[in-house]
Amino acid sequence: MFDYDGTLVPIAGRPEEAYPDAGLKELLKKITSKPGTCLAVISGRALEGLKNMFQGVPLILAGNHGSLLQFPGRRPVALGPVPSPELTRKIAAAAGEAARGIEGLLVEDKGTSVALHYRLAEPQKGLAAAARFRELVEPYLASGYEIITGKKMVEARPRGSHKGLAVNYLISRFPRAFPCFFGDDLTDEDAFAALGSRGLSVLVGRPRETLAAYHLPGPEAVRELLVKLAGFQ
Ligand SMILES: [Mg+2]
Repeated sequence: MFDYDGTLVPIAGRPEEAYPDAGLKELLKKITSKPGTCLAVISGRALEGLKNMFQGVPLILAGNHGSLLQFPGRRPVALGPVPSPELTRKIAAAAGEAARGIEGLLVEDKGTSVALHYRLAEPQKGLAAAARFRELVEPYLASGYEIITGKKMVEARPRGSHKGLAVNYLISRFPRAFPCFFGDDLTDEDAFAALGSRGLSVLVGRPRETLAAYHLPGPEAVRELLVKLAGFQ
């Protein structure tokens, strides 16, 4: 199980620029073709976006922080809370208002959650917009939303949707597998926590306090590992 941004690919200025290259897709395809091997990408991105990026690669995909999961060729399964579209529209409008007039701010509407990215904005203005977004979303926290922060982004997501849902679901679906999870961001800690000592947890990127038992320096090191896995007979 792999997180996507910052784990399988380096983090890009704009989410849509972090596209999986042909080499990565080929490697993942090769690994999934091995008997007894199963690969999943569990990301904070919208499931639809993941499906578009990994077309033709038979991966299990979990989007929206692991709350929507889909096996290749099957229908998506909701593992977490799905808020009303009306509520999500209000959250998206709040993000739009917080971002208005500030250069470099990106609103990512994921259908159930909404993220405000400020990587490309002036740091002060980015932080101010993030604070404004928090303020505007405050009234919706009682309706089941929560605010999380990640790398240069702040996001309002339905409370209770986190990557641990997908990890637990997959472990229950493959009880005899040895589960491994690789991730770089704070939201991946829920996955590490769910995995516990049942498998292998790997923090990718800069070392920090983490529940992961192992560490790799960055997506390049993950790629090297994938090359090795693809080469095993
Ligand atoms: Mg990540």
